[in-house]
Amino acid sequence: MESLTVVSCHRILAAESAYGAGRERSIEQGTIATFSAKRLLTRVHYEEGAYFPADYTMNLYRGCNHGCIYCDTRSECYGIDRFDEIRYKDNCLAMLEAELRQKRKPGVVSLGAASDSYNAAENTLGLTRQALQLLKRYSFGVGIPTKGDLVARDTDILAEMGRAAPVYVSFSITTAEDGISRLLEPGAPASSRRFAAMKELAAAGILVGTWLNPMLPFLTDSDDNLLALVDETAASGGRFALCHFGMTLRGGNREYFYAALEKEPRFQGVKQRYVNAFGLRYECASPRADRLWLIFQERCEKRKLLYRFKDIARAAGEYGPTQMKLFVDS
Ligand code: SF4
Repeated sequence: MESLTVVSCHRILAAESAYGAGRERSIEQGTIATFSAKRLLTRVHYEEGAYFPADYTMNLYRGCNHGCIYCDTRSECYGIDRFDEIRYKDNCLAMLEAELRQKRKPGVVSLGAASDSYNAAENTLGLTRQALQLLKRYSFGVGIPTKGDLVARDTDILAEMGRAAPVYVSFSITTAEDGISRLLEPGAPASSRRFAAMKELAAAGILVGTWLNPMLPFLTDSDDNLLALVDETAASGGRFALCHFGMTLRGGNREYFYAALEKEPRFQGVKQRYVNAFGLRYECASPRADRLWLIFQERCEKRKLLYRFKDIARAAGEYGPTQMKLFVDS
């Protein structure tokens, strides 16, 4: 089984995030505040097989309104105050264009390492769409993790980008049941809407799949849920599925998660199971992880889904007519 190293859908590669470089200005523009930052693109050192392929991360937004009760980004160590409030980087599109112009070679940019690029504000602001247009103009590829179905709005541009550079979209989906997804991720579109968006992107030839993280012990780590997610991914045209069979908890997100469990009648008793099983541990792997890994591999192979990062990276790199070298040197 692969080790539990990725902590939530938008914490991928976030160790290298540019967050913190900016100076909070709290300027209200309408109802959405902005913040300043020194740069937009943050170089990442891609380790083959460890994550999705990317040369840079980029966060246009700070904060997230999807409200996932398990979100790691709420952890105190990241120091993001008012996390549930969306802000965007001041002057981000001009900054992006200036940075792209300076790059000697194109690369792949992973969007939204610590927030969701398709949050509620994107519907109004369209910053992610405009950033994609810029990336396309400079022949960059893009990797998008999201819990939003708004990404389907950008099918046209992603399909065009995919003809010249790697493009992939990974939907974070934790449960096959809409009723449960509304409790776990109250601000995000229900799971079925995310699968519908996946179908739309897949139909346009975009490399898409499911990121089944986190898999919450005692809540979503049943055989039935896992197999249903894999089956639904295949039925929606997904080409990959990934899972680490657990979650992470630390100061800040642990308290938030436990309070949410205690508030919801369907989750009564679950908090105590966490306390008993994990205490103050950071990595909370499902006690069923070994079995889940076996049935996951078996079902992915049956459905012809890729389930290892290195295979997905290969599929992303070979996507489109131009085989792109994923490591750039500027
Ligand atoms: S989508 Fe959920 S897990 Fe990802 S940043 Fe937003 S609240 Fe956190």
